[in-house]
Amino acid sequence: MANTITAQDIETQLRDELGLTENTSLIAHISLPALGAVEGGERAIVTALLAAAGTVVMPAFTYQTQVIPQVGPPDNAIRYGTGDQINRKAEIFRPDLPVHPDCGLVAEVLRRDAETLRSTHPIFSFIAQGAHARHVLASQTRQNPLAPIAWLEAHDGVVLLMGADQRENFSLHLAEQRAGRKTFTRWALTLDDIEELPNIPGCREGFNAIWIELVEMTTVTHIGMGRCEVIPLEPLLRYTEKRLRDNPNFLLCDKPSCLSCRTREK
Ligand SMILES: [Zn+2]
Repeated sequence: MANTITAQDIETQLRDELGLTENTSLIAHISLPALGAVEGGERAIVTALLAAAGTVVMPAFTYQTQVIPQVGPPDNAIRYGTGDQINRKAEIFRPDLPVHPDCGLVAEVLRRDAETLRSTHPIFSFIAQGAHARHVLASQTRQNPLAPIAWLEAHDGVVLLMGADQRENFSLHLAEQRAGRKTFTRWALTLDDIEELPNIPGCREGFNAIWIELVEMTTVTHIGMGRCEVIPLEPLLRYTEKRLRDNPNFLLCDKPSCLSCRTREK
């Protein structure tokens, strides 16, 4: 088919149009359906990314490990004692637990690659491959689930969005935390425990409000049918933190029923 793109096409565009090099460290958020027909599907995207960049990081989150306790800290955007069904279905975190479908199928294909490493946070693990994979992942702790984003920021890292909008741009949570926005406590099943996990970020449904303001720091192209962009983390986080300090309700969603956003409203 004339409109089908290949791994080679994608790699070339990532290099020539978005400026990726073998020195680039990136965190990628990818919606394959938004790109249209790609020969080889998810695997082709993974191949192109690993060829075009030096270090590739993706979220490999596992929301399916979460349980809801009977009681817990107040103002935590959770309805305690309502977890009977969720708790029964919850899965124990293990290094080979599949990525939650919300993170996209490309992440799951990267996770299955033999060269891929994974961090061990029971809900917010990341996967990585490439020169700095080990260092990025080792930065994460139970106390500091967003540390891999800070690591990338400190090493000239970038965010790559492929067919994804700012609601997928998980790095914006780090700017929220730096600006003093409240985080939450969550609980997850591990092999021998129910772990209490602090500093968990909230809802992302309002993140597109910043999109237009990022134009000057963003490199944009189209790959297949999808808008793709690269945003350097350092200016992204600096700018977003300032916006949030100036307007503490910026980037919250407007759903009246959103416990996460309504709890953090000022
Ligand atoms: Zn919300």
